[in-house]
Amino acid sequence: MPKNTYYILSLGCSKNTVDSESIAQVLNQGGLKAVTNPQKAEVLIVNTCGFIGPAKTESIETLQELASLKRPDQYLIAAGCLSQRYGDTLSQEVSGLDGIIGTRRWMDIMELVKRIRDRKHPEPLYHIPTEALTVGNDEHGAARVSIQGASAYLKIADGCRRPCAFCAIPAIKGTAVSRPVDLIVNEARLLRDQGVQEIILIAQDSTDYGYDLGLKNGLAHLLNQLVKAVPDVPWLRVMYAYPGYVTDELIETMASHKQIVNYLDIPLQHAHRQTLLRMKRPANVEWVYGTLEKMRKAMPDLAIRTTFIVGYPGETDEEFETLVDFVRDIQFDRVGVFTYSYEVGTPSAEFPHQVDDDTKEERRDYLMEVQQDISLQRNQVQVGRVMDVLIEGHAQLEDEDGELTGESISLGRSYRDAPEIDGYVMVMGEAPVHEVVPVRITDAMLYDLVGTIDLNPPTIIQPGQIFGAGDL
Ligand code: SF4
Repeated sequence: MPKNTYYILSLGCSKNTVDSESIAQVLNQGGLKAVTNPQKAEVLIVNTCGFIGPAKTESIETLQELASLKRPDQYLIAAGCLSQRYGDTLSQEVSGLDGIIGTRRWMDIMELVKRIRDRKHPEPLYHIPTEALTVGNDEHGAARVSIQGASAYLKIADGCRRPCAFCAIPAIKGTAVSRPVDLIVNEARLLRDQGVQEIILIAQDSTDYGYDLGLKNGLAHLLNQLVKAVPDVPWLRVMYAYPGYVTDELIETMASHKQIVNYLDIPLQHAHRQTLLRMKRPANVEWVYGTLEKMRKAMPDLAIRTTFIVGYPGETDEEFETLVDFVRDIQFDRVGVFTYSYEVGTPSAEFPHQVDDDTKEERRDYLMEVQQDISLQRNQVQVGRVMDVLIEGHAQLEDEDGELTGESISLGRSYRDAPEIDGYVMVMGEAPVHEVVPVRITDAMLYDLVGTIDLNPPTIIQPGQIFGAGDL
């Protein structure tokens, strides 16, 4: 087995994906080489997720599987949020771990690898500092980006200072720390030079960007710097806005630059004042109505994504019905619904009136059903429009019997679709991959749209015609 090789598996969110890419850059600087087959790697790394129950289970099972396949000349390291949160007990769940490194000091991975190679005993080595995150100078020059096809995530900050009673992130990541504007702008230029068509700004709370850099309206300021620095990148997208912090300046900045897509991802979590107060979340629901109305006035084609938690401790039928009415009222384009996850160490874990799992699932399913009708209606409004679509791959059409029809389509996303979580646009014919092309929308489905490249006569896809083997 070749020495100086590593295999890294990234679990969890896009922020973790960026950390995995940065860990890889530090290992490359240390003279190691990435391999895609774990059997061919000296160092095996799992960048874990420790946010909620199911994610923790997936991380532990992945580590256990690699540990069971690991040979004596290989080293297994658990990195990321699960390590930061449960590092001191992880080796009891996963035997065969050689190293455990927390998410706050991902940049020390090379030192840990050296220590593991030199150690004289089989016990795992720990590196889980709890001091606040470091940014800028201490990132070993690793670009905090992750390129996915023609799109790239760019991390603008990490950590969070919000008090949400159900969330373990502040305990895992520490308080919010913004990255310097010039570093982010330089990385955006790097991405532009690599032909990236869409830059997606991510943080735990993007609307809190710059508060620690003395910036008022830091996110609007950063967006204006990016628009000036990389005017030739077609799309700039912002994820993870926090209610109460979408300012008039931010709305004005988004509305006045076509490059900043008219898309807002704003997790609201609930809509009943009492539930929001128990969540320690902004409970001024009138603010939400007012701000979304203001945004839709400034950007009439605005696409809004949000997420809700159902089954939160103490959630009554009346509170849930208020949430359902709210969703019907606002008519979001995209909604994610999660059942409350009991997280040890979070304030809400101690709350009385925990809701049983059956009720949680019933409420999730019911709210998703309500949203499906709305999603279809919001999609049907798009029919007839010509939209820019970022083409991401091609696929072969299959008929209802699963037979390939020989017709190929292109799969892409419009400004209304963030990667991995929203819908697609299915475009008839083979459009150039990784390019933004004008598409006339000809049909709408529950979550996806159908269209033709504006130049060619359309071929309508009949509902029920599904697509099969693709190369996305
Ligand atoms: S804003 Fe998001 S990351 Fe921060 S504490 Fe709340 S839910 Fe967690």
